[in-house]
Amino acid sequence: PFDVLVVGGGPAGAAAAIYAARKGIRTGIVADRFGGQVLDTMAIENFISVSATEGPKLVANLEQHVLDYDVDLITTQRVAKLEKHDLIEVTLDNGGQLKSKAVILATGARWREMNVPGEQLYRGKGVAYCPHCDGPLFKGKRVAVIGGGNSGIEAAIDLAGIVEHVTVLEFSDTLRADAVLIKKAQSLANVTIMTQAMTTEVIGDGQRVIGLNYKNRTNGDAHLLDVAGIFVQIGLVPNSEWLRDTLELTERGEIVTDAHGQTSLAGVFAAGDVTHSPYKQIIISMGSGASAALGAFDYLIRQ
Ligand code: FAD
Repeated sequence: PFDVLVVGGGPAGAAAAIYAARKGIRTGIVADRFGGQVLDTMAIENFISVSATEGPKLVANLEQHVLDYDVDLITTQRVAKLEKHDLIEVTLDNGGQLKSKAVILATGARWREMNVPGEQLYRGKGVAYCPHCDGPLFKGKRVAVIGGGNSGIEAAIDLAGIVEHVTVLEFSDTLRADAVLIKKAQSLANVTIMTQAMTTEVIGDGQRVIGLNYKNRTNGDAHLLDVAGIFVQIGLVPNSEWLRDTLELTERGEIVTDAHGQTSLAGVFAAGDVTHSPYKQIIISMGSGASAALGAFDYLIRQ
């Protein structure tokens, strides 16, 4: 069996595996897609000490760093189940089983998509999901934020300080954000908020986004909004569906951990975007991966 088995090969899982392997204990990673969300990222400008890089390049560096150590790297395998007996048993989609004394869950999350024409085509070419990451790319331009919940209104306030103008499009007739955020957004001269606005298509020039089509749900009229960027803020879904009956999750499905990364099941730790940690970023998920590995090591030396 492994001493530490990491489920997930994004920045959190890679950091956890490196920290565990450096303790000289038997470490493995099992991941569906090594690199995780970083593989889908173009420009990365907030990974501190690296002024600018690209997702696939950072993933290659992550993989090289992991393979500097004696880590069993098992990729293109999905985990379907986790059970604790004497050891912790992890069952793969293909029926295979892996056993470990401690497990670190780092299965990440995925942005909920609008599912409209053009969204996939212009992903990373104007369609964005992370204002902290991509906001500065739209300096001086007009952008839209899709979604009027807390993350959408926070994004609008954040972006208003960088871009020329922000239009928020909310599907329903009310904003679901906290009143204090709505008030703040409404006070900003370069923020327009529209409710009952259904985004129907992302429009581009073949290279980049140039606008979006939306329908006014009160009268059915179609409109074109001229924007260079579209920030989709309709939810981040943790990859934890398979853990629903195993561990304590928040109502949004995020894994609850303590400060050491320990979950509600002894010996099972979690890190990165799949946890209830409030900010979802590469540098933050790496830090929590390191914490979870040290937490797991502390657990193992007490067994
Ligand atoms: P993830 O990166 O989501 O990795 C999860 C891993 O778990 C993957 O290997 C996946 O295959 C695996 N996995 C999931 N379920 C299973 C399963 N059942 N069995 C086995 N394996 C499984 N952050 C920044 O700091 N700067 C940026 O510029 C930036 N830009 C971004 C741009 C885009 C388009 C996106 C989507 C995100 C961006 N982020 C950025 C956010 C950042 O990518 C995430 O915060 C970070 O990748 C989270 O790391 P993680 O290891 O927790 O999860």
